[in-house]
Amino acid sequence: MKKVLLLKFGELFLKGKNKREFEKLLMENIKRKLSSFSFNLEQVVGRIIISDYDEMEENLIVKNITTVFGLVGVSKATMVNSTLEEICDFVSNIKIDGTFRVNVKRADKKFPLTSVELERKLGEVILNKNKNAKVDLHNPEYNINVEVRFNNETFIYYETIKCDGGLPLGSGGKALLLLSGGIDSPVAGYLMAKRGLKIEAVHFHSYPYTSEQAKEKVITLAKELSLYCDEIKLHIVSFTKIQEQIHMNCDSEYMITIMRRIMMRIAEKLCEQNELGAIITGESLGQVASQTMQSINVTNSVVSLPVFRPLIAFDKEDIVEIAKKIGTFETSILPYEDCCTVFLPKYPVIKPTIKKAEYQEKFLQIDELVREALNTKEEIIIKR
Ligand code: ATP
Ligand code: MG
Repeated sequence: MKKVLLLKFGELFLKGKNKREFEKLLMENIKRKLSSFSFNLEQVVGRIIISDYDEMEENLIVKNITTVFGLVGVSKATMVNSTLEEICDFVSNIKIDGTFRVNVKRADKKFPLTSVELERKLGEVILNKNKNAKVDLHNPEYNINVEVRFNNETFIYYETIKCDGGLPLGSGGKALLLLSGGIDSPVAGYLMAKRGLKIEAVHFHSYPYTSEQAKEKVITLAKELSLYCDEIKLHIVSFTKIQEQIHMNCDSEYMITIMRRIMMRIAEKLCEQNELGAIITGESLGQVASQTMQSINVTNSVVSLPVFRPLIAFDKEDIVEIAKKIGTFETSILPYEDCCTVFLPKYPVIKPTIKKAEYQEKFLQIDELVREALNTKEEIIIKR
């Protein structure tokens, strides 16, 4: 008999040939996430088991586990040998004062009783030992879950704590998140990391128009994201000269459009330099003038890499809910200015066209501005 944590994974089984690689990555990610603890990690058919940990640290380990992408649930379980005697023996010591139900999953079909037979048997054992216990199959106060698995191992537990799901971090490649200090972009990064993308981030600042604190805020956001995304390389790029040039030379209506197009160009260069396969933004359709379908088209047209916008169909309320859940919200609402609010035009164009944007850009030395901006780059490795 042994206390263990029973980990369930999600979609991995859909992945055919890649399955083994996914599982290997998942195991590595779990090990890395728990690197400050001592424990034993083992994969059995359909489950992962953590054992031999300090029981005082159990809750902390569980908390860390819930943020490993690819896992759907974790249960604090007791492992016994798969004999009817041992299972009954353990179950007979469970104290139940109220309604209960036994749920059996029999993976090992060599076990002599079927799932239903074992459920009945264990139900009887509990009823015999607890005079206030009563079976309720629909809405029980206690769930007794029993998984008879292979290698003579049976796991018994009460509840499964939900994990974040998704796919193992890194299984989908690497991408670059455009990280502002706002609410949306950290959530966008989280959602794409959850789909298996390892994240690097870029932040554009307009020092001295924007403050040192605005930059610190973004570093804090990256740190908060690293809880899920592991280490993050954060590229910090000065946008000051670009904004001044746009302000001086372009039609104010098109200012934000041109800014966005230059951000995208710089992002694509960073992707080339760092072997990243996509760009991620926190845009949401119709949220502001620069996020209309026409604006997105004009911004998108300067890059050839895929641009992922996981929030495109989200309402702000739903984004806020996720930001609160992942712990970035409180930082995001700190009142420091973003570079996009510097020189902000009163009436930004709502339906820009590529032709007009290209015309405005004739007044700028775009390639040179991009090159100079990249030369200002500062790189910070954000560790979890
Ligand atoms: P957010 O809450 O993410 O700031 P937002 O609703 O304020 O988004 P915008 O300011 O229009 O929207 O920005 C749209 C997207 O452009 C952001 O989600 C982010 O991905 C990117 N972005 C904006 N400003 C910056 C910046 N200073 N540095 C890096 N990326 C930025
Ligand atoms: Mg913003």
